[in-house]
Amino acid sequence: MSLSEFDIIANYFKRPPQQASVSKSIGDDCAIVTVDPDLRLVMSMDTLVAGRHFPDTASAAQIATRAFCTSISDLAAMGATPCWFTLGLTLPQVSEDWLKSFSESLFAIADRYRCDLIGGDTTQGPLTLTLQVHGTLPQHQALTRDAARLGDSVFVTGTVGDGAAALTVLCDHSIILSQEQRQYLQDRFYQPEPQIETGKQLLPYARAAIDISDGLLADLQHIASASDVDISIDVDCIPASTACEQVFSSPDERLEKVLTGGDDYQLLFTVPENQLESVLSLIQRGVINATRIGHVVQKKQTQAQVYCQKNNQPFFLTGDKGYQHFAS
Ligand code: ADP
Ligand code: MG
Repeated sequence: MSLSEFDIIANYFKRPPQQASVSKSIGDDCAIVTVDPDLRLVMSMDTLVAGRHFPDTASAAQIATRAFCTSISDLAAMGATPCWFTLGLTLPQVSEDWLKSFSESLFAIADRYRCDLIGGDTTQGPLTLTLQVHGTLPQHQALTRDAARLGDSVFVTGTVGDGAAALTVLCDHSIILSQEQRQYLQDRFYQPEPQIETGKQLLPYARAAIDISDGLLADLQHIASASDVDISIDVDCIPASTACEQVFSSPDERLEKVLTGGDDYQLLFTVPENQLESVLSLIQRGVINATRIGHVVQKKQTQAQVYCQKNNQPFFLTGDKGYQHFAS
């Protein structure tokens, strides 16, 4: 390495913290932050490996925004407010151009969500990023996977399937798509919009929530299993973008991608009957963008399950993953 580990930190990552809550940041053995006594600390960690979580062709700026946005998406899924994060950065070699672009892009996106970089670790090896994100929650409110109850309505934010459509387009340049839609999908992949504001808005009304990283059905299954309930959804209600419709022009393929594709970072959440009106009003007033797609129903078997309906008929995916997990 031409620059030492300490040069890298000093030149690219050390910056005065933006928040008064940070009393020690990058440069000491540990960071010190003050948590408001009325709030609880919420933490989550994610690792991104080159070639696995993003294509080897991704630019430094794209890697930075994807790493940050997908990491704080977990805070959104709890209804938490992001505050601070640490960065474990493993680099194969030192490129000052790469580091400049990466750190500028990282600070730009972190500033947008008022989240301070307060520490990390820098090592040499295959390109890998680990972000530990820290946020806060009020003492008695949280959106958790185990909170869904019989009779709750199930909602999803935004459109689903964009992550899968983006990956398809990134890997297959022969797909015909307008420049605008190509850009839309690329942005959805490299800068998915963490649903922080929506999560916060939902805190008083919703029960369970999760962000879609593995796929809509797989992530709904996490809520079903943790809450020990069955969930029934109408697959015709799930919104897809026009770009997604263009990429997957066969309706069957599109539905499979919408249900199992993943990488969407939208929120799935459940709402009890007595809060339904409040949530529908948030949607109507444009405060949140969400669609009702199903219900929490009585558990039929020992294992909690997710059922799909299409045209009021039971619908089963024929793909291996979906079939194994979700067919009765
Ligand atoms: P130590 O040897 O005490 O663990 P380091 O030399 O690893 O400390 O790091 C020095 C300081 O730089 C610490 O405050 C650490 O949190 C911070 N730091 C190291 N790498 C990064 C990084 N990639 N991003 C942000 N801060 C970092
Ligand atoms: Mg260290």
